[in-house]
Amino acid sequence: MIRSNSNIFDIIIIGGGPAGSSAALYANKIGLKTIILDKSSFPRDKICGDALSGKSVRYMKELDLIDDVRQQDCSIIKTITFGSPNHKQFNLHLENKFQSNTIKEGYVLKRKIFDNLLFQKAKKVTKTKENFKVTDIIYDDNSNIIGVCGLHKNDLKYIYAPLIFGCDGSQSIVAKKMGLYPKLQHKSAIAIRCYYKNVKDLTNQIELHFIDEVLPGYFWLFPCGKNVANIGIGLSKEQAKNDPRKLTEILDDVINSNFFRSRFKDSEKLETPKGWSLPLGKTKRINHGNGFMLLGDAAGLIDPFTGEGIGNAMASAKIATKIAKKCFEKNNFNKHLTKEYDKLLWLELGPELKTSTKLQRLAKYRLLLNIVMNKASSNEKVKDIISGMLAREIPKEMLTNPLFYLKVLFT
Ligand SMILES: Cc1cc2nc3c(=O)[nH]c(=O)nc-3n(C[C@H](O)[C@H](O)[C@H](O)COP(=O)(O)OP(=O)(O)OC[C@H]3O[C@@H](n4cnc5c(N)ncnc54)[C@H](O)[C@@H]3O)c2cc1C
Repeated sequence: MIRSNSNIFDIIIIGGGPAGSSAALYANKIGLKTIILDKSSFPRDKICGDALSGKSVRYMKELDLIDDVRQQDCSIIKTITFGSPNHKQFNLHLENKFQSNTIKEGYVLKRKIFDNLLFQKAKKVTKTKENFKVTDIIYDDNSNIIGVCGLHKNDLKYIYAPLIFGCDGSQSIVAKKMGLYPKLQHKSAIAIRCYYKNVKDLTNQIELHFIDEVLPGYFWLFPCGKNVANIGIGLSKEQAKNDPRKLTEILDDVINSNFFRSRFKDSEKLETPKGWSLPLGKTKRINHGNGFMLLGDAAGLIDPFTGEGIGNAMASAKIATKIAKKCFEKNNFNKHLTKEYDKLLWLELGPELKTSTKLQRLAKYRLLLNIVMNKASSNEKVKDIISGMLAREIPKEMLTNPLFYLKVLFT
């Protein structure tokens, strides 16, 4: 295909989810010409808990998205409720004393709406092609990346750029083509989501229940707009493989359990539960190479404890764009320059991902969960310690220190 101004860009962004659309917005701020290619057409669904908390909200503010989100049929979240295996609960209020200058509310908004908002905002500043399924990377005679090809409405098309951002999610074609797609079960989790109507006692809280039916995973119950709940379960792929029950059966067990049955008594299931995988940020991966960087789920950045990945996807977009700027300033796209991306990414996200990996392991210990949550439900001091950690004003690593549990026991 002939190269012309209409198909040559600075960066090709593959995937228009939170990583890709945010990357286009950040790139526009520094004057880089991008194109987003996405195999779907927007608005499209994405299986998710739909929660936009802490870190996501920080980047949403930077990209001027908060007002747009608040105007949608979303739930505004002020409280996080944690439930223990023996059903003791404690609430963390986002507007507590620790949160003097940090995020005071979160949101739950269907990804079909949120991703479309972000994509349409990006579309104002970047070229986009929907229904474009990238199938391969193309190189020049010296093995330098010069673009990608793919199917656009069944026609094979070529798009050119010296730099590629792989923002194409957990099954990333870019990661696969570059030999960076991990196949290890223990690095991935699986989760299913289902929307329900008329679930009782939904207010402004998101609920995470570490209960026997799912342990060491959890059951989530989030309000998601007017009278709708987003519910689901998440667990490691290894655990799912070893459990004789199907994921849908585990979810049914939770809904029909003594503790939750009454809340679902008059409820109505709005869809068949759908599952998707979560590439967890349990180890530092290589996410760069000559002429490319991997972002968001393609880079395996989901928090292993909470299952959140939108904020980290947006964080990776900001960092990748910073590195792209350096590449263009030096007119050099090789791995010696792009490797700084991995370094900055891990500096920014590594400490939290490492802590969450340890926390995920602790979640296997039923007794420990019971002790901490029981104490937190009745003891203001313990609640304060945990709130402080979540508000990042007390190091969260403390949660992985055995002494912390001794302290809780005797507080
Ligand atoms: C069940 C579940 C619950 C979750 N709950 C939460 C939550 O509550 N909060 C939270 O923060 N995170 C949550 N996550 C994680 C979150 O969904 C992801 O981390 C986030 O979507 C990552 O964004 P992304 O842009 O990297 O990838 P995606 O959102 O997956 O976007 C990838 C895009 O790439 C496109 N694409 C893929 N392949 C190609 C191709 N070959 N050519 C062109 N386009 C392509 C896709 O169409 C898609 O639009 C959850 C995940 C799951 C599975």
